[in-house]
Amino acid sequence: MQHYLNYIDGQWLNAERRLTVMNPGTGEPHATIAQASIEDADLAMAAARRCVNSGALSEVRPARRTTWMLKAAEAIRAIADEGALVACRENGKSLNDARDEFIEAARYFEYYAGMADKIEGISVPLGKDYVDFTQYVPFGVSVQIVPWNFPVSICARSLAPALAAGNAVVIKSPEISPLAMTLLVKAVEQAGFPQGAINLLCGKGSEVGSHLVKHPDANQIVFTGSVPTGQRILKDAAERATPSVMELGGKSAAIALADADLDTLLASVKVGIFFNAGQVCSAMSRLLVQRSRYDEVKAAVVALAESLSMGQGESNPDLTPVVSEGQQRQVLAMIEQARAEGATVLTGGVAPDLSGYFVAPTVIEATPDMRIAQEEVFGPVLVIMPFDDEDEAVALANGTDFGLVAGVFGEGLSQTLRVANRLRGGQVFINEWFAGGIETPFGGVGLSGFGREKGQEAIYSYVQTRNIGIRLSRG
Ligand code: NAD
Repeated sequence: MQHYLNYIDGQWLNAERRLTVMNPGTGEPHATIAQASIEDADLAMAAARRCVNSGALSEVRPARRTTWMLKAAEAIRAIADEGALVACRENGKSLNDARDEFIEAARYFEYYAGMADKIEGISVPLGKDYVDFTQYVPFGVSVQIVPWNFPVSICARSLAPALAAGNAVVIKSPEISPLAMTLLVKAVEQAGFPQGAINLLCGKGSEVGSHLVKHPDANQIVFTGSVPTGQRILKDAAERATPSVMELGGKSAAIALADADLDTLLASVKVGIFFNAGQVCSAMSRLLVQRSRYDEVKAAVVALAESLSMGQGESNPDLTPVVSEGQQRQVLAMIEQARAEGATVLTGGVAPDLSGYFVAPTVIEATPDMRIAQEEVFGPVLVIMPFDDEDEAVALANGTDFGLVAGVFGEGLSQTLRVANRLRGGQVFINEWFAGGIETPFGGVGLSGFGREKGQEAIYSYVQTRNIGIRLSRG
């Protein structure tokens, strides 16, 4: 089995302990990775601090960082095929989606390369006796904790703007799916960033992750992951008032209005809840349908779910396995609980007879108060329910503790926009789930978190404002 290493202070280092990474498509061990210790975490934080103190990243002319970023993007593109195979085998995701993650990672580097030299302050008018202006300064050391569902693209989503703004970064990769991230960092490393600017550790969240978050050298925390872990980290961050970006979970709803186009809607359902086996924070996990179309849409969605191909990621099926046996067990348990609460499983709800950690595409008719309609499942499970009018649709869509994304499907511009304007969430899609890209700001409200990633706005998640006020001499 291949063994992977951690990247600390410009070197690839082994550790005494190792973690085994499984292939979710076969249920077999796939590779091992060095399990970082607390001492490794301290070495990485010290390296990042030295990099910050040297000014080698933050005090160069910003266009220099643009050059490094563009080189990194090129190197990421060059390894996209090799990296995709690793991501597909360790994560279970389809080969095409795994490749897209690397291309998306390259796009983050290109996009923020273009911003490195445009993080401009403003001039503040204070009358003739003063000159006053603002500067955007990097935090220093950015600690970034990454989840397993899109480790490569989520890693790049935070790493690229952090570097563009001049921060040194210590990344904690997820225990379950850390391998492809090492290829990403190997590519980025070739671009010539100063020593210590990028460090990558794989270790236990409760041990190394927690240590990094509490570390006195952590000037910023960027966390993407589940709500309970985010809450734990926020409590830890409070000790030193460390600024944080929190990208957490969701229970996002699509509203299908009476005049929604069925084909458009079905195309979005397919990608919205079955892409990456539903392990997407912004998945369309609830579908609310106007009553006059409810039976028709319900039948079409069930038929869609039953038509999907299932298989190993390498064969690019419609539905791939979930990431682990634990995840499979958890998803199936939530479906069982929904049954016990009186929900109707219209299709799926079982582990099909395949090797690997599969959950059949599942559609559940539930009422809004049931746990399956309130809690994140993180699997290929769609909850469907009817509504009578706009007010009810909005109340249902907004009726969870989350607020990540939402969607509206319908023909009328005024009506779709009117509904969209009332939805709680950082992003609302009209007539295409996931409309947007790396260019569009993304983030949550409520339990889905705070702070924004992606788009030009995200660069400001990686800097703090400093105001300089000058009193002119009286002459
Ligand atoms: P998780 O919270 O279990 O783990 C995320 C990361 O946190 C892992 O690297 C883990 O090792 C680390 N961690 C665990 N305990 C820690 C601690 N005490 N201190 C520091 N780090 C710790 O989440 P997951 O299961 O890997 O990912 C799935 C969750 O992530 C879902 O809830 C999903 O909605 C969410 N997610 C959100 C977004 C977003 O952008 N909003 C994107 C992807 C995933």
